[in-house]
Amino acid sequence: ALIVRHRMRSSGCWARAMAILRELEEKCGTPIGKLRQVADAMTVEMHAGLASEGGSKLKMLISYVDNLPTGDEKGLYYALDLGGTNFRVLRVQLGGKDGRVVNQEFAEVSIPPHLMVGTSHALFDFIAAELAKFVSTEGQGFHLSPDRQRELGFTFSFPVRQLSIASGTLIKWTKGFSIDDAVGEDVVAELTKAIERQGLDMRVAALVNDTIGTLAGGRYFNNDVTAAVILGTGTNAAYVERAQAIPKWHGLLPKSGEMVINMEWGNFRSSHLPLTDYDSALDVESLNAGEQIFEKIISGMYLGDIVRRVLCRMAEEAAFFGDTVPPKLKIPFILRTPDMSAMHHDSSSDLRVVGNKLKDILGIPNTSLQTRQVVVELCNIVAIRGARLSAAGILGILKKMGRDTVREGEKQRTVIAMDGGLFEHYTEFSKCLESTLKELLGDEVSESIVIEHSNDGSGIGAALLAASHSQYLEVEYS
Ligand code: BGC
Ligand code: MG
Repeated sequence: ALIVRHRMRSSGCWARAMAILRELEEKCGTPIGKLRQVADAMTVEMHAGLASEGGSKLKMLISYVDNLPTGDEKGLYYALDLGGTNFRVLRVQLGGKDGRVVNQEFAEVSIPPHLMVGTSHALFDFIAAELAKFVSTEGQGFHLSPDRQRELGFTFSFPVRQLSIASGTLIKWTKGFSIDDAVGEDVVAELTKAIERQGLDMRVAALVNDTIGTLAGGRYFNNDVTAAVILGTGTNAAYVERAQAIPKWHGLLPKSGEMVINMEWGNFRSSHLPLTDYDSALDVESLNAGEQIFEKIISGMYLGDIVRRVLCRMAEEAAFFGDTVPPKLKIPFILRTPDMSAMHHDSSSDLRVVGNKLKDILGIPNTSLQTRQVVVELCNIVAIRGARLSAAGILGILKKMGRDTVREGEKQRTVIAMDGGLFEHYTEFSKCLESTLKELLGDEVSESIVIEHSNDGSGIGAALLAASHSQYLEVEYS
């Protein structure tokens, strides 16, 4: 009798767990019609954000980049890339048209977590110290022209209100950074002071978002690059806009007639987005509640935690992992997106990788094959929603650029430079993104739209923009 009762309870539990899974699947649904609504809403918000400051959740930030690299850039330049859990320093010797990137070296340092939530002074001191260390290792193969100061492109991957190409104030932090005293400050001034405290002689020549760096780096190698998308810890996009189409821009019209816009699409929000209770809970408990909603359902910082939240509910309401809730399941961010990705891609017949991850990360031993299959399905639901919504966002940009249809007699190629760990390493995600974009565009248009992985283009891009904004170039005013 005992055994029968137990079996009945567990089959009831199983049904409950399946109900939770099916409900999630339904709420995360992204049928093509919904994706079109999301794309249209993105286009509408782009217009609104360009029309006036604060006109939309999309900030549509002016980058002051009105010329993209041509290939003529020459000399030694440094770049510093801050924005995720790691930061990178880089030096590159640019050889102009024929030589291009003659030489390049970089170093990567992980940021001690306490510095992400400490003071501005401490963070910038740490960065400047690493930069100084790196500069001191400059050796053969790199040449600074005589009497020149070293110059740096600073990739700072947070929303910044730029005041010029080489200054701008931090609007807010995202992605787990929270350093109150830096908000509203000019991040170039902060970095410059820290560089001086190191006794290093270096000037920040360009301040750029990672999307802008990726766009610039992409354009350097391929003339058809007109937009860039980052899918990593956070997510964002940038594209080349006609200066005339930016009502809120009151400056001189650039000679090129163009201006690169940092959309900050991570902050996009629309009633058409498929949101669940798990997403609301994640948002409320985050460091930036109410903000970056698009980012929170798409990007690498959050996907794993959404999966954890669903598993936790299954454990609580459907005894999915047995009679007690595994305590580790309650720890925010314990399940990282790379681990989710590893489980999602597990191709072994007994889903061994899933079993090991559940055991090693969440302390849940001896899971059944059936349980593991449910976990994989859960990862799939969460990843596919993010990938399809990213494709919808890209369609929104293509619409704004007028590149979502084939125009009479025109066969213009549009290349979108993509970067970020999520795009690079989460194959199911990137495959789905690309196939969804094809589905949305149709065969004919798809042929002229290319997604290109720009591997760490943002570092080179920042160095290139430092080169084109060097103090040693004559400035041309139109
Ligand atoms: C930031 C963007 C950045 C993106 C990708 C977002 O959280 O707000 O500025 O481009 O992450 O790194
Ligand atoms: Mg990369």
